[in-house]
Amino acid sequence: MEKAVTKIIHRDPEQKEFQQAVQEVLETVRPVLERNPEYRKQAVLQRIVEPERVIMFRVPWMDDQGQVHVNRGFRVEMNSAIGPYKGGLRFHPSVNLSIIKFLAFEQVFKNSLTTLHMGGGKGGSDFDPKGRSDAEVMRFCQAFMAELFRHIGPNTDVPAGDIGVGSREIGYLFGMYKKLCNEFTGVLTGKSLAWGGSLVRPEATGYGVVYFAAEMLATRKEVFEGKTCLVSGSGNVAQFTTEKILELGGKVVTLSDSSGYIYDEEGIDAEKLSFVKELKNIRRGRIREYCERYPHTVYRDADSSLDHNPLWDHKADCAMPCATQNEINENDAITLINNGVFLVSEGANMPCSPSAVDIFLENAILYGPGKAANAGGVAVSGLEMAQNSMRLKWPREEVDARLKQIMKSIHTTCVDAAEEYGLKGNYVAGANIAGFVNVVNAMLDQGLV
Ligand code: GLU
Repeated sequence: MEKAVTKIIHRDPEQKEFQQAVQEVLETVRPVLERNPEYRKQAVLQRIVEPERVIMFRVPWMDDQGQVHVNRGFRVEMNSAIGPYKGGLRFHPSVNLSIIKFLAFEQVFKNSLTTLHMGGGKGGSDFDPKGRSDAEVMRFCQAFMAELFRHIGPNTDVPAGDIGVGSREIGYLFGMYKKLCNEFTGVLTGKSLAWGGSLVRPEATGYGVVYFAAEMLATRKEVFEGKTCLVSGSGNVAQFTTEKILELGGKVVTLSDSSGYIYDEEGIDAEKLSFVKELKNIRRGRIREYCERYPHTVYRDADSSLDHNPLWDHKADCAMPCATQNEINENDAITLINNGVFLVSEGANMPCSPSAVDIFLENAILYGPGKAANAGGVAVSGLEMAQNSMRLKWPREEVDARLKQIMKSIHTTCVDAAEEYGLKGNYVAGANIAGFVNVVNAMLDQGLV
């Protein structure tokens, strides 16, 4: 085991998700270190696993009944070698320092793969927006920004959305930042179109997942037309992954949320997808309601006592996990392979456990890790920053064409980096190596800081 890994385990033994993310990267970059002795001499591993800065703060707010609540806020500024810290904010009860550090660590490599000048960071809170009124969410966002504003800025750190943070939350956060700083600036991405947002930003992560998958399919002379896909999640990423698969002639048969999942053998068509968008984005309801509206479909409650997730039991060609970390374990991976799934493109961050990843690699399926496959979201955030700096707005076709081009180039970069190290077809190694080399070279250029 690398010294850098033993050190982080020793320092923060409880940070399991962070250790998992670090271990995966460090295992795959070992051949790079062997080729570049300077990297070891400069202790780049130990430097890259230690965040440049960790901010933790109290977020006190009042609910509609007048009761006071205290949540914990986080911003991990992981690495700024290639640009200002960039990455989303996650509001979910599971959020803790380990989760934010793993997400910030992944973000460093993902952002590097986009070729845009963005460092890596991530933040969030253990606040649960589920069931909260708009007024409560607004007060929480204002309280959160009342501390965060002093640490961020358009050239310092540019947060965005993630689980539990969409355009409503970005609006409240932006409003508070603007009031406190007296400055209208591109300090957040994922803004609404009317006040600085970019076209295609809402669609970008999901579309990117499918563009990346299409590139992987093309290496086997395959296309989406006629393919059956399992998609998990039902938020922004899952919705636009589904939309793009439909557009390319594929069929999506599943969606989920934290309460359970639906299986629609006939496929989720455009009309059903707009029902899901309205259900999730406007009414903020549960996916269970899909079955009330379309009674021929199956709904199953989530059951954490099971040793597998039954969503992945259905027969398909492709799987796009778009919910959350570690949602595909070893058992799920075996089932997917046995059922004929030959492509996995990750919309979520680290949705597959390390043993699931090993199974995909052993079976040589087309497996696109999140760092590469879901980089479209942050890539268009980078394009939003560029448009804000120029005080211009690009048309939809231009942003979409740039997104497509970026996903294509990430794919080529991964393929080339893997081949350079004799690991043909291994997108995990390709993404980690290419992302790593770029960041490490920038760190070395800038000296010991
Ligand atoms: N949270 C998204 C991600 O995981 C987007 C980050 C951003 O747009 O800055 O990449």
